[in-house]
Amino acid sequence: MTPKMQKFLAECRDTEPFLVVDVDIVEQNYMTLRRLLPLAKVFYATKANPAEEIVRRLADMGSSFDVASMGEIDLCLSQGVTADRISYGSTIKKRSDIAAAFEKGVRLYAFDSEAELLKLADVAPGSRVFCRVLMECEGAEWPLSRKFGCSPRMAADLLVQARRLGLEPYGISFHVGSQQTDLGQWDKAVAQVAQMFTILQEADVELRMINLGGGFPARYRSDVPMLEAYAKAISDAMTKHFGNKLPEMIIEPGRGLVGDAGVIQAEVVLISRKDYDEDRRWVYLDIGKFSGLAETMDEAIKYRLVTPRDGGATGPVSIAGPTCDSADILYEKADYQMPLDLQVGDKVQILSTGAYTTTYSSVGFNGFPPLKSYCI
Ligand SMILES: *Cc1c(COP(=O)(O)O)cnc(C)c1O
Repeated sequence: MTPKMQKFLAECRDTEPFLVVDVDIVEQNYMTLRRLLPLAKVFYATKANPAEEIVRRLADMGSSFDVASMGEIDLCLSQGVTADRISYGSTIKKRSDIAAAFEKGVRLYAFDSEAELLKLADVAPGSRVFCRVLMECEGAEWPLSRKFGCSPRMAADLLVQARRLGLEPYGISFHVGSQQTDLGQWDKAVAQVAQMFTILQEADVELRMINLGGGFPARYRSDVPMLEAYAKAISDAMTKHFGNKLPEMIIEPGRGLVGDAGVIQAEVVLISRKDYDEDRRWVYLDIGKFSGLAETMDEAIKYRLVTPRDGGATGPVSIAGPTCDSADILYEKADYQMPLDLQVGDKVQILSTGAYTTTYSSVGFNGFPPLKSYCI
């Protein structure tokens, strides 16, 4: 945690939980990625944290943006991002939204099906399009699974069709799964894409771009490889499979840019046991699945917790949110331990919560307000 954040947390008098993001860390993460992968253009995955301050800072540094809705497009435009730096990367778009994006000057679109391609040809004529291919997402803590992408052979056919429809078949994208810790996944994916470039060349379609997606990690409870290792895995895969005919490269980091830049401060509401002879305590916080911690679903993302009493003896705990829904349990199986002398009223800091928290917060389930957010 940076001194700036520590000072903010020490001085903040809020009684409700909140997220604080140090935008300087976002900037540093962006610069690190640029330095490690100088040939790749960064399209920030806006959904990870759409705070205006973050979008503005990244826009000022020259970043481009991956978006999924008119809301995100308008946000980017309002923060000084020009339309030529926006990629409409969702494969699931209403025709009216594509038309509205086209009207605002967006000319880069994703698709993974014929039906979507036909919409694009219809209301975004002449645009650059890229096809998303399906990935297994093995090794990812937050897999994006079979919802997105199509098979490579279908993708190849659709890219040929794109040209017939008057669009520009620009490239291929994939996403190896969010919080991906198996670096071998990029090699597998790049190999597949390189093969498709060759197949399409034979059909006289010259693709120019590979979109390597996100997957860069934040530091949760288990160790993750250094960003250097990610960059090396990607560079090595590109050289191995494309030789010296490297296409344009796009990366779409979300979590990797903003995750570690944020800390949530919450409070212990209740500590109890379910029976007299039970060791395990239940620790109820004033934040849960419905106020920003949705990624604890199936205990997938395991955040690091800090309490003012760390350092002494600890015991096993289940950790839950304050709402009256039994789904609002953060960790029950994941073997969390907290200090034995933890008290009601203690502040608990939840680290690396800069990504996928504020916007996952409900509008007011059980009357609890949405997660507040500060950018400093
Ligand atoms: C969510 C998303 C990303 C960001 O993924 P991270 O793992 O958070 O980096 C990138 N690209 C697309 C298309 C996405 O939907």
